[in-house]
Amino acid sequence: MMGLMRIPPVSQTLARLVSINSVNSSYEGGPGEREIATWVRCFFEQRGIETWEQDVFPGRPNVIARLPGRDASRRVILEAHTDTVSVQGMGIPPFEPRVEAGRLYGRGSCDTKAGLAAMMHAVAALHEDGITPPCEVWLAAVVDEEFSYRGVVKLCEGLTGQAAVVAEPTGLRAVIASKGVLRWRIVVRGKAAHSGKPDLGVNAINHMARVILSLEEDHRRLAKRVHPLLGPATVNVGVIHGGVQVNFVPDNCAIEIDRRLLPGETVADVLKHYQGLLDALKAQHPTFDAAMETPMLTDEALETAADSAPAQLASTLLAEMGLDGTLSGVPFSSDASKLSRQGIPSLVFGPGSIDQAHAAVEFVELDEVERAFEFYRSFILRFA
Ligand SMILES: [Zn+2]
Repeated sequence: MMGLMRIPPVSQTLARLVSINSVNSSYEGGPGEREIATWVRCFFEQRGIETWEQDVFPGRPNVIARLPGRDASRRVILEAHTDTVSVQGMGIPPFEPRVEAGRLYGRGSCDTKAGLAAMMHAVAALHEDGITPPCEVWLAAVVDEEFSYRGVVKLCEGLTGQAAVVAEPTGLRAVIASKGVLRWRIVVRGKAAHSGKPDLGVNAINHMARVILSLEEDHRRLAKRVHPLLGPATVNVGVIHGGVQVNFVPDNCAIEIDRRLLPGETVADVLKHYQGLLDALKAQHPTFDAAMETPMLTDEALETAADSAPAQLASTLLAEMGLDGTLSGVPFSSDASKLSRQGIPSLVFGPGSIDQAHAAVEFVELDEVERAFEFYRSFILRFA
């Protein structure tokens, strides 16, 4: 842990969190979140702050720390994920945090252990100063953000709250909007035949070409409607598989599609629209036979009202801190959309840049981690 002796307590905690391998166990060699959950829990227990666990997967719990508030009926949730993406292809030692020129390097340093460390110290600082905040405060350190969002889904069961702040690298900007994601497969079935007599078969690749052109046209249509913070919805074909060998008429072709959703679009409506495109192709071509599979991933968009109390407070606090208080949108999804769907006005805010998240050389500016600590502390102190 080179150069770590001279850094402030929040950064010390960040270094400790980075040194714990918490690669999501859905990725190769990932041990999951057990060890980091225990460490987070001990951090609070040692300070006399109440904690408990929520089992999400066997040996992979969410940890919740709670500070009582003056009004027991109101709650603010600080939420950060404890897992990271894999370390494959990393250009630095992932779990040996190193500080150089004001930056801390390592897997998860930016996404999102920096935000987690800052939130932990914000809660601890209030408790240490004997301050009872206006609302009850929950710090939720949740599992599985980087794979299937099961941690936040568990957290949301029966959860109520008046505000949630989710830690992700937003470069210290308050984020109120993000796109949703829908990923699914379309499979076209054809009829195999010898390539010397292709008229005896049905070429699945040729039919898939029609689907792809139709999706390309759909992308152009989507580009015409622009959300002020997020830009347009998009559709992209990222994978294609088809055929067996060159002298066969292919009887099968499949594509994988990534569709980014705008606020207001629902997964069900969007899927219905694409089923409509397939039905139109079927009407034009009698041998066309395509099916849509159950989506591999769905996540609806986030849009918190700019005039909601949490958004307004965030904007005010940032301006007071001399930072940019403009409420903005980001092109990545997070746990915030799930908290928002639970009826809790949610923001995303944290230190670090999304450009360094998941990167071969992941780092965070320690100054930003300190500023994030100040922000989270002020937020829970002032949200009433
Ligand atoms: Zn993240």
